[in-house]
Amino acid sequence: MWDENVREINRTNYELCKFKTIEAINNVKHILKTRPWGKYNDFYNNVLIFGIMFKSLDDLLDIIGLTNDNTWLRDNKTIEEVWRKMIDCKERSLFVKDYLPEGFLEFIMTNIKNLEGVFNRNWGDSMYMSVEFIYDPICNICFDDLRTCEHEKNVIYNGKLCKIIRKNFTFKMSNVVDEPHDFRCRIWSWNINLKNPGEAGGSTFESAIFTFFSVDDFLDDDEQ
Ligand SMILES: [Zn+2]
Repeated sequence: MWDENVREINRTNYELCKFKTIEAINNVKHILKTRPWGKYNDFYNNVLIFGIMFKSLDDLLDIIGLTNDNTWLRDNKTIEEVWRKMIDCKERSLFVKDYLPEGFLEFIMTNIKNLEGVFNRNWGDSMYMSVEFIYDPICNICFDDLRTCEHEKNVIYNGKLCKIIRKNFTFKMSNVVDEPHDFRCRIWSWNINLKNPGEAGGSTFESAIFTFFSVDDFLDDDEQ
């Protein structure tokens, strides 16, 4: 357990919270897909913001489920999964924060902060993989070049988040860094294989080098 708030959520409440949260996310997906009330751009923008907020809560509920007792601290795969979910949850919350009344996301942010403390105390600072790509940035709204079109990345237009479509995508180089673009690409100590002196080849490690996360990526999933 890493937070007092979590202790208050008993099993029944947890299942109910999870069910209601998924239901809210599915409703958002349905509204944005069918647009039942015609062209009310601001309204659909708000629907997407609520969707991202509910998905952030869903991420947190997954984390609460995974960290239900302290055994997760001894399971490397679960540690990695909790870390990834924590980054997802945090990035979604930070994205919607400015659209919502102050303090609206306090429950989520407090839990994330406490969990970050757990990671810091147990595993400290880390190194991350960072990759550079070359591509033509295409706008996902008008499909013109995003550098010259009227849309702006990360702004919501008529319920759709403006994002880059990477065309002519070429891998350039990868680096090990301490301030990565994507914190999901963390290099965990247990994934580093140090070679013994005299052994052929250098030490190796396994890590994600790139993820396709987007705060609204749940819209592409089939209904849960
Ligand atoms: Zn555009």
